Amino acid sequence: MADFVSLKASITQKGAVLLGKRIACDAFDDFRPLRIVTHAHSDHMVGLQQSIRRCQFLIMTPATRDLLGVMRNSSFLRLDNIKALNYGETLTLLDEQLTLHRADHILGAAQVLVEDLEGTRIVYTGDFRMPNTPVLEADILVLEATYGSLFQIRWFQPVVEDALVSLVESGLNNGPVCIFGYNGKLQEIMQILHTNQIDAPFIVPEKVFQISKVCECYGMQLGKFLSEDEDEAKEITERNEPHIALYHMNSRRYVGKEALRISVSGWEFSGPRRQIAPNEHVIALSDHSDFNGLLRYVEESKPKLVITDNYRAGNATALAKEITKRLGIEAKAMPQ
Ligand SMILES: [Zn+2]
Repeated sequence: MADFVSLKASITQKGAVLLGKRIACDAFDDFRPLRIVTHAHSDHMVGLQQSIRRCQFLIMTPATRDLLGVMRNSSFLRLDNIKALNYGETLTLLDEQLTLHRADHILGAAQVLVEDLEGTRIVYTGDFRMPNTPVLEADILVLEATYGSLFQIRWFQPVVEDALVSLVESGLNNGPVCIFGYNGKLQEIMQILHTNQIDAPFIVPEKVFQISKVCECYGMQLGKFLSEDEDEAKEITERNEPHIALYHMNSRRYVGKEALRISVSGWEFSGPRRQIAPNEHVIALSDHSDFNGLLRYVEESKPKLVITDNYRAGNATALAKEITKRLGIEAKAMPQ
């Protein structure tokens, strides 16, 4: 059975997750007319320009389309071959059916389900975080493997948000706070701080501002945020009034030297918060499942075969081994 079903899903050397007969997810593939972008992180947008030129359709959720419109450029939104598909809406592709399902990761993130005429359910999780991602039952499951090592467990996950909030609160007593993170997570941080009644304004670069606007359009509650180019933001920073500056992680070396600095990263397993310099901390907020979350997804999905994603950063080989050992399910890392 497993040999037969395994022909229906694979991951190429270039990172394309192939599902059924026509679909390539998260990278371009020469022989697949349909490209799915599961979410707007760069390691899932491999070969996007090639896909735009050569694919019949690029399929993604409306939120992912709008995020790409900001991250790439607005002409992206007007391309004829971009097709927005809502969660739960089914698209029939000859003898296969495609549905996107919500994944708790960043705004717009989707899991992909392909069902064929033989009734095989082929699922690709994309990136996700448990426990708030709905588990899809699968015959073949293609699984992300970012934290696929059995040592990558965040036992302290329930208290991470509190650790972030209290660190920001104490920092604001002494001046501005500067937070570094990736797109999507920065907006999650704004939402966490806002819902915890931290009312100092957020000041962000123009790109982060535009991404935040999209998140707000789709219902996230971020509180008051200003572009650093606005006069009001300039006055706040010149007077050194309490505020929270948020930057993409790539700017970490260049800005915010005088502030309390917080880097937010999932690559932390010792505790919710770690001090790395006199004025700098790391908060272990992740938008991925830890090892236990990945295993729990597999257990509940009940697949006959698991393929772990060995193209993107992570521990796909170790994860496949543990899935077979602990759950008795055939599992392999791809590409080899
Ligand atoms: Zn991601």
